[in-house]
Amino acid sequence: MIAVKKITVALAGNPNSGKTTIFNNLTGARQHVGNYPGVTIEKKEGSCSYRGAEIQVVDLPGTYSLTAFSPEEVVARRFLVEEAPDAVVAVLDAANLERNLYLAMQLLELEVPLILDCNMMDLVTGRGDRLDLRRLSAKLGIPVVATVGNQRQGMEELREAVASSNGVEGRKQLSPRYSEDVEASLAALEQEIQNAAPRSRFPARWTAIKLLENDPAANEEWRGTSVAEFAEQERAMLEQARGEPAEIVLAAERYALIGTICADCYWPAASPQRSRSDVIDAVVTHRALGLPIFLAAMFAVFWATFNVGAQPSEWIEVGVAWLGGAVSGWWPAGSESSLKSLLVDGIIGGVGNVIVFLPNILILFFAIAMLEDSGYMPRAAFIMDRIMHKIGLHGKSFIPLLLGFGCTVPAIMATRTLESRRDRLTAILVAPLMSCGARLPIYSLILPAFFPQVWQAPLLWGIYVLGIVLAVVMAKLLRLTLFKGEPAPFVMELPPYRIPSLRDGLLHTWERSRLYLKKAGTIIVGISILLWALTNFPKPPAGAETGGSSELAYSYAGRAGHLMEPVLAPMGFDWKIGTALVGAFAAKEVFVAQMGIVYAVGEGEEAEAPLREQLRNTYPPLVGFCIVLFCLIGTPCMTTLAVTRREGGEWRWALLQFGGLTVLAYVVTAMAYQMGKLYFG
Ligand code: GDP
Ligand code: MG
Repeated sequence: MIAVKKITVALAGNPNSGKTTIFNNLTGARQHVGNYPGVTIEKKEGSCSYRGAEIQVVDLPGTYSLTAFSPEEVVARRFLVEEAPDAVVAVLDAANLERNLYLAMQLLELEVPLILDCNMMDLVTGRGDRLDLRRLSAKLGIPVVATVGNQRQGMEELREAVASSNGVEGRKQLSPRYSEDVEASLAALEQEIQNAAPRSRFPARWTAIKLLENDPAANEEWRGTSVAEFAEQERAMLEQARGEPAEIVLAAERYALIGTICADCYWPAASPQRSRSDVIDAVVTHRALGLPIFLAAMFAVFWATFNVGAQPSEWIEVGVAWLGGAVSGWWPAGSESSLKSLLVDGIIGGVGNVIVFLPNILILFFAIAMLEDSGYMPRAAFIMDRIMHKIGLHGKSFIPLLLGFGCTVPAIMATRTLESRRDRLTAILVAPLMSCGARLPIYSLILPAFFPQVWQAPLLWGIYVLGIVLAVVMAKLLRLTLFKGEPAPFVMELPPYRIPSLRDGLLHTWERSRLYLKKAGTIIVGISILLWALTNFPKPPAGAETGGSSELAYSYAGRAGHLMEPVLAPMGFDWKIGTALVGAFAAKEVFVAQMGIVYAVGEGEEAEAPLREQLRNTYPPLVGFCIVLFCLIGTPCMTTLAVTRREGGEWRWALLQFGGLTVLAYVVTAMAYQMGKLYFG
């Protein structure tokens, strides 16, 4: 029997360097290939066989550096040292070679058996630039391979390089050397480390660099030792001499070294041609035009959401009404059957009203998928970054927050890409202010009920913009109070534009509609039945005056609602809206379901009029607007709170988010209502 040679290989690289693409090419594993830095957050594994060897591939989280600012970076460097993979492939965006080599430099410092994968070679040659791989390989003393990940070019060479990697032994792998003063400090420190009892498997020189750089994880490891004291002195001396923090000095040293390497093997085209992406970016991310273009793009999305969605929505509405009528018909006219009420008022009235908005949801998600796929979303984040920097905020937070237009839960998870905990918690806490897809049914019910068609898209757009503005204001507030401190430095990658793939967009939209219908068929049906029961029972004693409203008032929901009424009154809400708001805590769509139930149960036999018409006849437009406002800001849903608790690590963050946003919603809505009443009578 021949023993199968087993090779483990780790993929490291900057976000958007094509790591996931290469991983998929190597292992055939299916994953979402996205544009956002940080889609690859968790450790992913896969395997393939090559010439009788079994290659185990681990996809490390995408990082720009190996500092210990983010959990990802700590995870990556621990893995590299503790699991000691047989080879580490640094996937580089060769079109941004200098910036991408920064991570490679640190991998060399870590003394891992490195292989360079110069990916995105199509962009290099497309620009007319030249990269001499052999010289680069000779300079660094490591194998260098060229690939074009999305065209699967160079994969054979990469596999070959991995399979024939025999660790660092026998190689002349470069160990980066820096200026004399830095080297003197490092040598002294390294000696000190070697004399001390070993603390970890990190190489001594690496540890020396990290301690000199004031790296939090290394400091933690060596805290209270003489080595730490010594490092402190060396750092102070270096900072004194250079007049800059030590980590800045070392970053500059690395870039200087990279500069000399690149000067020898990378030649830009004589007259740099501006790529099409650059031309588009000149307009789209223009200082003055960028924001208006972003706002206009959002407006177009919401206009389509309403205007293209209106017709199919109406068909579903007709279908739901027909179904309600047909089911009603199973009972003799005037029947008081509870089963009939459950089916017609509770389930069809509740869930039916939610399903009506499926087309709007689909259009919104389709539009977001197209914007994401085209590469526009990172630009939007870039534009917001510029604005947010002006007011002292970290713009990188905006990338995960943009996901919040779909659903708050993935937005919160995506904050894992943020480097500092302060930035991360800030983003998590304000994430629910980015209006999620589940709130769209509420807006789609309310806005057309009270406002003429020309107003609907502008209002919807205004609501989303208000959400963004509030998120920025609250983030600023948090940074001034709870989370004081400088925002972490941030380099942003703008991937090239692409024609968005219609197929991917449709697939994504199909997936969303499946999820929406599943949610309607499970959570929302369940809660609708519960709310129906609470709205329908107990019945007033026989002989009491009948007629919709008093029966409703007698029910559990009615009684609970009446208790809430004094609290709701300043916002102009009655108890019916109150019960719907309580239901919305479980899932935002339930608001619509509960309004459907209340108005179906309450109207008894006359529940023929469509829900919107009943709303129009009951409330003034101001109340409609206030509902939308409250739902935008207020009370994050249960799932959001659970995820905030998990990602924030402590319950108090979830409680702060819950309390803070509820109070904010209450205050803003009450103010809007009271002021509106003054102006409009
Ligand atoms: P990751 O963040 O490093 O995992 O990067 P991804 O694998 O998600 O790739 C980011 C984007 O770059 C995707 O749109 C890929 O299709 C694209 N991409 C990957 N490799 C190449 C390449 O060699 N050339 C070009 N032009 N695009 C690539
Ligand atoms: Mg990835």
